[in-house]
Amino acid sequence: MSKQQALSGEYVDLVIVGGGMVGLMLAAALRNSGLHIVVIERSAYQPVLSMDLDCRVSAIVQGNVNILKSVGVWQYLQDNVGVMASMRIWDGQEQGGIRFEAEEIGQDKLGVLLENQHLIDALQHTIDESHDVEMLCPESVLSVVWKRQGVQVSLESGRVLNTPLVVGADGARSWLREQADIDVFSRDYGQKGIVATVKPRFPHQNTACQRFLDTGPLALLPMKGDVCSIVWSASNDRADDLLGLSDEDFLDELNLEAGGVFGGIVEVGKRAGFPLKAQLARHIVRPRLALIGDAAHSIHPLAGLGVNLGLRDAMVLAQEIMDARKFEEDWGDMDVLTRYMKQRIPDVLTTMASMEALHRSFKVQFPAWIKLRGLGMKALGNAGVVKQLLMKNSTGINLPVPHTIE
Ligand SMILES: Cc1cc2nc3c(=O)[nH]c(=O)nc-3n(C[C@H](O)[C@H](O)[C@H](O)COP(=O)(O)OP(=O)(O)OC[C@H]3O[C@@H](n4cnc5c(N)ncnc54)[C@H](O)[C@@H]3O)c2cc1C
Repeated sequence: MSKQQALSGEYVDLVIVGGGMVGLMLAAALRNSGLHIVVIERSAYQPVLSMDLDCRVSAIVQGNVNILKSVGVWQYLQDNVGVMASMRIWDGQEQGGIRFEAEEIGQDKLGVLLENQHLIDALQHTIDESHDVEMLCPESVLSVVWKRQGVQVSLESGRVLNTPLVVGADGARSWLREQADIDVFSRDYGQKGIVATVKPRFPHQNTACQRFLDTGPLALLPMKGDVCSIVWSASNDRADDLLGLSDEDFLDELNLEAGGVFGGIVEVGKRAGFPLKAQLARHIVRPRLALIGDAAHSIHPLAGLGVNLGLRDAMVLAQEIMDARKFEEDWGDMDVLTRYMKQRIPDVLTTMASMEALHRSFKVQFPAWIKLRGLGMKALGNAGVVKQLLMKNSTGINLPVPHTIE
C-alpha cells in the first residue's frame, strides 16, 4: 500500500459515488471482504408516493432474485415483493398475443416486483451488518483527482480520501463520468414513462400484462396486495396531457388502452413522469475508475431490465476486486478493470440491442408489418423450445449465481 500512502489524505480501499440500488449492491456484495469501503450519497432516496406505494418500482428477474439471495439481501426484502408468476404480452393492433408461465421453465415465478425504496432499505440493512462499509449521506464530492498511484477524493465535509479505485454509481447523469471526461452515446425516445399505482377491479393473480400501443408500451405490474403499478410510455406531448388529466379522465384513457384487463382499473394514485432515454458510456472503465448501473448504461424500461443489468455489474465488479485482492493485484489497474468490462459488455449490448429492436418493431404501423408481428407472436407462442429458451434468457435463470463473497 506504500504507493497509495504517498498521496495525502486518509487511505480507503474503495470509494463508491452514488448510493442508489446499484451502488449499495456493490457495497453489500463486498461488506464482509475486510476492505474499507466508503459510499458517498448526495441525498437520501425520496420515494414518490402513489396510493402509499413508491411509484418507482422495478421488476427483478428470477436470476437476479437468486443473486439477492446469495448476497443475503433477500431476507430483508421477501415480505415486500409482488410475485410475477406469468406474463401476458399483446399488441394494441392485433388480437391474440403471447403468454409466459413460470412453470413452463420449471420455476415458481418469473421474477418479483418491488418498490425501489424497499430494495434500497434491504440493501442498507445488509450493509449495516458490517463495519467495513462507511455510508456518508448526505455528502458530496468536491473534486476527484486521478493520479498514477491512486485517486484523491475531496469531500464537502473537508475529508480527503485516497483510494486505488473510485466507482461511479451515480446514475444516468453521472457527475463522476463527466469529471473523467467520458462521453455517452445517447438516444432520446422523445417519450416519458408515466408511473402510478392503480387498483384493478379483479385480483391480478400475479400476472404482469404488457400491451404495445401505437404510442409505446403500457405495462401493468402485479404488486404485493391487490394493486398494480403501471409504466405507460407515451410521446412527450401525450404524456404531458395524460399527466394533466383529472383522475377520472385518466382512468377513462387508461381503461381504453388497457383493453379491460383485470376487469378494468377502478382507482389511480398520484402520477409521475420520467423522460425515457437510452445511453451508453463510451468507456465504462478508465485507470482507477469503473462505472456501474445507469452511470454506465441506461435503457428503455419496456422490458424492465435497467436495474437488473446494474445489479449484475455490481456483482461482477465485486468479484473482480476480490480476486485482485486475493492475487495481490492493484484493483484500480486496467488489467483488473478490463476483466470487469469484458464480462459486462456482451450482456449490456445484447440487452440494449433487443430493447431497441422491440421498440422499433412496435413503432412500425404498416398493416402488413402489424400482421407479420402478430403472426410472429403466435408462432413464438407455439414454438415450445424456442419460447422456453427466450424465457430462460430473459429471466436470467441461465446465468451463474456468483459465489458469495466472504
Ligand atoms: C419509468 C421507469 C421504470 C423502470 N422500471 C424498471 C424495472 O421494472 N426494472 C428494472 O430493472 N429497471 C427499471 N428502470 C430502470 C431503473 O430504475 C434504473 O436502471 C436504476 O434506477 C439505476 O440504478 P442506479 O443505482 O444505477 O442509479 P440511480 O437509481 O439513478 O441512483 C444513483 C444514485 O446516485 C446518487 N448521486 C447522483 N449524483 C451523485 C453525486 N454527484 N454524488 C453522490 N451521489 C450522487 C443519487 O442521489 C442516487 O441515489 C426503470 C426506469 C424508469 C425511468
